[in-house]
Amino acid sequence: MLRLDRAVLFVFRAAPWISLAALVLSLISGLLPLAGLYLIKLIVDGLTLVVQSGDSGDFYPVFYLVVLAGLVAIAQHLLASLSAYLASSQGMKVSDYVLDVLHKKSVELDLSFYENPKYYNTLYRAQQEGPYRPGKIVSGLTNVFQNFFSLLAIGGLLLFLHWGFALILVLAVLPSLFVRFMFSGILYKWYQKKTPLEREAGYLSWLLTGYPNAREIRLFNLGGWFSGLFSEIRSKLRIEELGIQKKQHLCEGLAAALSAAAVFTAMGYAVYQAGTGKMTIGDMVMFYQAFQRGMTHLKGFFEGLAGLYEDNLFISYFYDFLDLQTEIKDVDNPSEFPDSLKSGIIFDNVSFAYPGSEEKVLKNISFEIKKGEICAVLGENGAGKSTIARLLSRLYDPVEGKIEIDSVNLKCYKITEFRKKTAVMLQDFAKYHFTVNENIRLGNIDIDRADQYLIRAAAMKAGAHDFVNRLPRGYDTVLGKMFHDGMEISQGEWQKVALARVFAKEAPIVILDEPASSMDVESEYLIFQKMKTLLKGKTGIIISHRFATVKSADKIIVLKKGEVAESGTHDSLMEKKGLYCSWYTKQMQVHTQGDTHD
Ligand code: ADP
Repeated sequence: MLRLDRAVLFVFRAAPWISLAALVLSLISGLLPLAGLYLIKLIVDGLTLVVQSGDSGDFYPVFYLVVLAGLVAIAQHLLASLSAYLASSQGMKVSDYVLDVLHKKSVELDLSFYENPKYYNTLYRAQQEGPYRPGKIVSGLTNVFQNFFSLLAIGGLLLFLHWGFALILVLAVLPSLFVRFMFSGILYKWYQKKTPLEREAGYLSWLLTGYPNAREIRLFNLGGWFSGLFSEIRSKLRIEELGIQKKQHLCEGLAAALSAAAVFTAMGYAVYQAGTGKMTIGDMVMFYQAFQRGMTHLKGFFEGLAGLYEDNLFISYFYDFLDLQTEIKDVDNPSEFPDSLKSGIIFDNVSFAYPGSEEKVLKNISFEIKKGEICAVLGENGAGKSTIARLLSRLYDPVEGKIEIDSVNLKCYKITEFRKKTAVMLQDFAKYHFTVNENIRLGNIDIDRADQYLIRAAAMKAGAHDFVNRLPRGYDTVLGKMFHDGMEISQGEWQKVALARVFAKEAPIVILDEPASSMDVESEYLIFQKMKTLLKGKTGIIISHRFATVKSADKIIVLKKGEVAESGTHDSLMEKKGLYCSWYTKQMQVHTQGDTHD
């Protein structure tokens, strides 16, 4: 299926004026060589007449023709330079535009895509092909039209001289065209096959050169092993590609030999015609040039077509990415999210399996968090705590059952509104390599950049203010070592900054997944001591292993293998003497024993 129109639309959207100018210019450039060709015929024939008549006075009109031919040639060169400039400026604009489209699409996609290797293959191919294929298609189309117009005229000229010349011209370029089509298909299929391996090589290269794993790679002496794996993949890919290229070059060589034989056959015939006086010398020169140019244009025309065929195949990789459908999106006529809650949050018989998996990690979960209540979620590793946080923040939707906020299904709220009014801190929070100020402001990008008060207030709530003040440039210190003058901080300090991001947002709902797990005992104690005050009036959940926090929650949910094992307040659960009571007692024993050993 041809999808060229979509590419053309892309290019014209990215650079409308430049594309229009390039189009007009290429049409003019297509016609100029014909004028040049005709002028040369006039010059040669005029010159022959002058030589035959022996009257040097007749020379001047020929001279003017030479000047005109020169001017046409100069115009051709100037237009070619202008075209080249327009082409590169169009290329850059289109490439930036396509990257912008790619980025917007990536952010719009559901998280589930990011958990599927197929997505990364699609993304990789779209990133490789997207930025330059649309521009290439447009220049391919203009080239094809340009060559087509030139061909019409030259073909007519050759037909006029002898129909056989036109036929030989076509036959001469057909083999190359066939080879090109054939190898486009082969390369397209190979490209699809090689993507996972190429991505794997990219991953190994990132491991070897990136910062995140640099320490461990040294400590475990993994450098040689990883670079060996990398070389193995690259050499496999290289051997496969060279195999295809070998066949391609061989076929191209044979096709070129066939076309050379055709050209010289035609030339031999023209020499014979001129020698026997059936052609003028001017005709012969014009034939020679016309045949040469005819070859160039026909080759250009067919190669353009073959190129378009190839571009059309490869651009489908870009469209595959753009056509990915998100599941988590606004319903028609979404509800407005309230500024403050009226009743609260309800999990109603919620079950969930991660996309692509049959196994339910949450099974028939039901509980209610009333307005102004903070619910602690407790459970062993893998019990499904973080999954509850992800469902409540609508990174995924339940497979069965529903989550309601103020008696409205979460799916019915406008997503951007809901996100604005929900402050979430996930366990694997982001570390932005920007200044501390920016890191905190990203929690609420509506905060004015100059509003230091809100930023500092958020940092104080998260216990980050003191350590930030000790940094060389305070709140203007760039975090991380990726950029100039960046400063690395500890994991616990990063966590404080991430928590400050949550407090920078004035949101009625909070979702905190292990918000202090990396902090030192003192910081964690201080945070949890004031947590009740900090979260006053807010509704939400907090996931924590610290019983000091859990104990003070309005409600506690104990999860076991994706199901609610028990729920209630600290006192009621202690009375029940179930799982919660046994964990609490064990943690207390550890603390007491720890204290006695000290
Ligand atoms: P917890 O927070 O209680 O330690 P999680 O909610 O993170 O547990 O995980 C619950 C289960 O879901 C685990 O068994 C884990 O293997 C699975 N799981 C977690 N994240 C994903 C994911 N992105 N894709 C598929 N399965 C996942």
